[in-house]
Amino acid sequence: MNISIDDNYCKGCEICINACPKDVFAISQKRNKYGTLIPCVAEKENCIACKLCEIMCPDGCINVETEV
Ligand code: SF4
Ligand code: SF4
Repeated sequence: MNISIDDNYCKGCEICINACPKDVFAISQKRNKYGTLIPCVAEKENCIACKLCEIMCPDGCINVETEV
């Protein structure tokens, strides 16, 4: 499983944090170039690849890839 967040487009709305049923995301102390606190992938091993985060992110900056 690989979960990536595109720092350049994330606006820190936290929708992904609230949408994930497995609490994979958390607020980090990392800021993007606009000074926005962006989420981090804190519990990647809990991910069930439902892709709700991808669907819910209003800026399309999350990508969930399942390993083959
Ligand atoms: S839903 Fe998208 S824009 Fe909002 S915090 Fe998550 S990654 Fe960033
Ligand atoms: S794919 Fe589902 S379980 Fe995995 S991080 Fe996204 S919302 Fe959470």
